[in-house]
Amino acid sequence: MLSEWLGLTLDDETPDAREGRLPFGRYVLHGPGILELLPSARQTQARACVISAGIHGNETAPIELVGELLSRLEAGLIRLGAPTLILLGNLPAMRASQRFCVTNLNRLFRRDLADHGDEPPGYEPKRARELMDAVDAFYARHEDAERIHYDLHTAIRDSRYPRFAVEPFADTAIHAEQWRWLAAAGLQAVLHQHQHSWTFSHYSKHYHQAQAFTLELGKVRPFGDNDLAVLRPMRALLEALIEGREPQGGDPASMAFFRVEHELIRESEQFALHFADDTPNFSEFDVGTRLASDAVAGDFIVDDAPLAVVFPNAHVEIGARAALLVRKIATPD
Ligand SMILES: [Zn+2]
Repeated sequence: MLSEWLGLTLDDETPDAREGRLPFGRYVLHGPGILELLPSARQTQARACVISAGIHGNETAPIELVGELLSRLEAGLIRLGAPTLILLGNLPAMRASQRFCVTNLNRLFRRDLADHGDEPPGYEPKRARELMDAVDAFYARHEDAERIHYDLHTAIRDSRYPRFAVEPFADTAIHAEQWRWLAAAGLQAVLHQHQHSWTFSHYSKHYHQAQAFTLELGKVRPFGDNDLAVLRPMRALLEALIEGREPQGGDPASMAFFRVEHELIRESEQFALHFADDTPNFSEFDVGTRLASDAVAGDFIVDDAPLAVVFPNAHVEIGARAALLVRKIATPD
């Protein structure tokens, strides 16, 4: 049944049973796209682990990766040893192979969103609340375990580092073991955010002090076109966490570390980015380069030291982020 859950969810069908047995535990369906795995014997190393995919509906590789994990759990190839919450994010967008329905879900994970008068119409705010509630209840049920949340994505554009982690900004310090695990999982770069950004991984880090990341695992492709072989090391990390074992470690120095220095905000209708539309993420620009022009904000020119561009998009709404500008930093201890 577990391996069919993904297909049933994509077909908008409700599985017959809300609960069932697994080779090393059981599962509970708390709602559409919300699946909890409970081990019959919890390992001493076990963390309470949230694995989410499909927060952007067209990012299919992580959804296929979750499908592999569920099949392997059901076949008894993974010995469930840690409480695990599997979440599928934007279900109607997944069905329509779109990034979102009305608005980007991954900016709505804020408890007081409505108080800020910032709640957009449509499906996404309701879904953000369901997912936040699911995370709150899961961590409350397993409050004695260390909290982890990996939110799995793929990027719209090419990247100098196809697989990279975004570390949300929040007070909680990231443990050094995370860098070793991510290095062993085949991640190539890490980007530290410099201010709050109301993403799903930020939610778990900010409100629950979880070790939480947004993981970009390659480029957006349709279902069936993903090369899951390159994600085997990532799968190994997730399997170790699901089994409640210590994951394999690698050398953090194999990853490039960056910090956000500046956010380019579109402030007017007359806004342009002065580099090619298909510029890969982490492309670097020299001092003196004019990166953007805006009728209100003026020109943005690189000063001091070279800057690299991540997630550029000139076509955002006015007031929204058009690119992150980042700079390389030292590998953390
Ligand atoms: Zn995404």
